[in-house]
Amino acid sequence: MPTPFPVGPVNTHLVLGEPLTLVDTGSLTDDGWAALRAGLGRHGLAVSDVERVLLTHGHQDHFGLAARIEREGRAQFFGGRLDREHFRGRRNRRLLLDALSRAGFGALERLTMVAMTAAVDHYADPLPDWDELSGGEVLPGDGWSVVVRSVPGHTPGSLTFEVPEAGVLFTGDTVLRDITPNAIVDEDPERPGEAFRSVSRYFASLDSIEAEESCLLTGHGGRIVDFGAHRAKLEGRYAFRVGQIERALSGKPKSVSELCRRIFPTVRPMDLFLAYSEVLGFLMYLEDLGRAERIPGRPTDRWTLSKGSGLPSTLYGFP
Ligand SMILES: [Zn+2]
Repeated sequence: MPTPFPVGPVNTHLVLGEPLTLVDTGSLTDDGWAALRAGLGRHGLAVSDVERVLLTHGHQDHFGLAARIEREGRAQFFGGRLDREHFRGRRNRRLLLDALSRAGFGALERLTMVAMTAAVDHYADPLPDWDELSGGEVLPGDGWSVVVRSVPGHTPGSLTFEVPEAGVLFTGDTVLRDITPNAIVDEDPERPGEAFRSVSRYFASLDSIEAEESCLLTGHGGRIVDFGAHRAKLEGRYAFRVGQIERALSGKPKSVSELCRRIFPTVRPMDLFLAYSEVLGFLMYLEDLGRAERIPGRPTDRWTLSKGSGLPSTLYGFP
């Protein structure tokens, strides 16, 4: 399905079983709607034939058309409980503005980032009605089933859907073949007013995925058939990022915005929020490991390496 986002097309999967099930919907654009209808049409189906829609997470490219599908037919919708605010199209802008000023961004950068997040919201209609999943549920089908698991990280309410009878795992954006998923920092739905510790949670979720035998059908790009090999590659990329941030932190304490400029010197203004999210997510991860510390300031916090933090022996995934 086409999307208006830099990530490019998004995958929507159709399970040709009873009940007829869609996994994710694509974003709310005319092109997206046409692609959905064309895809269903290739199987002699219409949008009104869809009986169940499973949403991997509350990002616009994945659930944008859900409300329109809901209006068009009779499908039952399922999405992660902790992405409730995403599906409702609500965002704590005040918290974001406050966090961005503590990160040391100037007024223009702060406004650009808030405007970028608001612009993205246009590509989804708020979802009026859906059943919330927490992970652990098994949704029945005629001769098949969907095992739901919670994988917080990319978003707090991200889910994977496994169809054991088919040896298939739908991963949403939790595992992607050609892109290293970004764990987006946002408000923690379980700790209102606090930042979601996205990277730490994401690594724990990656550890929980047992998919050596499964074919992974991802949210963007191709499938993954060898998860073990894929994970080794991912760990290399994350280790690189951790090293970059630790090197940037050596010397005098720095704000998140200073670290962003150092690590992503050529980032475009529209991608600055992702850069901020990546840096802050990894800083909180290092803080959780006792390797970095936040020095609260007014208005800007600074970060430094913890005293006595030695070699990264306890880092995630390091053999
Ligand atoms: Zn996403």
